[in-house]
Amino acid sequence: MSDNALTDSFGRQITYLRLSVTDRCDLRCRYCMAEHMTFLPKRDVLSLEELESVAGAFIDRGVRKIRITGGEPLVRRDIATLLARLSRRLKSGDLDELTLTTNGTQLVHHADVLRELGVKRINVSLDTLDDKKFERLTRRNVLSKVLRGLDAAQSAGLKIKINVVALKGVNDQELPSLIEWAHGRGMDVTLIEVMPLGEIDEDRTDQYLPLTAVRDALETQWTLTPMTMRTGGPSRYVRVEETGGVLGFITPLTQNFCEGCNRVRVTCTGRIYTCLGHDDFIDLRAALRGPAPEAALATALDRAMATKPERHGFQIKTPGAAPAVARHMSVTGG
Ligand code: SAM
Ligand code: SF4
Repeated sequence: MSDNALTDSFGRQITYLRLSVTDRCDLRCRYCMAEHMTFLPKRDVLSLEELESVAGAFIDRGVRKIRITGGEPLVRRDIATLLARLSRRLKSGDLDELTLTTNGTQLVHHADVLRELGVKRINVSLDTLDDKKFERLTRRNVLSKVLRGLDAAQSAGLKIKINVVALKGVNDQELPSLIEWAHGRGMDVTLIEVMPLGEIDEDRTDQYLPLTAVRDALETQWTLTPMTMRTGGPSRYVRVEETGGVLGFITPLTQNFCEGCNRVRVTCTGRIYTCLGHDDFIDLRAALRGPAPEAALATALDRAMATKPERHGFQIKTPGAAPAVARHMSVTGG
């Protein structure tokens, strides 16, 4: 561990950065966004060079893994250039992993480039394989594009994990077949509890499905063997003996996962959020656009470490309650 490594006040070393490159998206998933979103003005969004500087500052302080996210990262026009620049830090050994989370709609165009740039695995978010449901959930009729994107990614040799948000009355019945389908194609699956982030057009209590109940239901038909595998992240993994595949559970509501937290998030406007569940942030953009960016970035990172909270405090109990944090997941970067 380098002597200037990023360590928070609870002794947790930060080795993982999730970097959002845009708040825009070509889908409008109902749990993530409202239909009519006001996106950030372009001037507020970090330039390619600024994003590269931010990533570099984190890498120099011991971050070994970067996940590019959004909004939808692949709708940002210069995304391949950013990835190419970060890929150099992968080749030089400064980074262990460069990856991204995507909705898959643009993967057909990017899969080969991603693989060439040293990306080995990606997360693709897909909550249903039913055309009609997909359209209702994302408000866009593009499931076939996503499926073609998955084909392209697998042909390019990318390993894929499918992220599925478990949604009451939407995909609860479909989860076993979705898992079987993914495992049958050699893809891991992670189920996620919906989190109260940002105002949407619906009530979260109508969407929320505790994964404890999902797991109980899956266990009536499958043998789920807990795995010791941890990625330093919030997922707990099991092997589904019947399919041979890996299944993860991210349970922010039913089981707090903060004690081993190794990550921070930076938004596309340069705000460091040290916790998904808190509104406090440290602004990097002012540091980047000021007279002494390097020194100001270093100070900002130190401040972020000093203020990283011990844990989030999400709950979804009261119908109609305001979200736990006001910003959408598409802003923070999932
Ligand atoms: N657009 C990309 C995608 O969908 O993969 C990347 C950004 S998206 C915000 C990242 C992840 O956050 C997705 O897997 C999405 O399902 C998840 N997500 C969005 N809003 C959420 C919420 N309120 N609760 C839980 N997960 C959420
Ligand atoms: Fe877009 Fe991802 Fe949010 Fe869906 S979850 S609206 S794909 S940012």
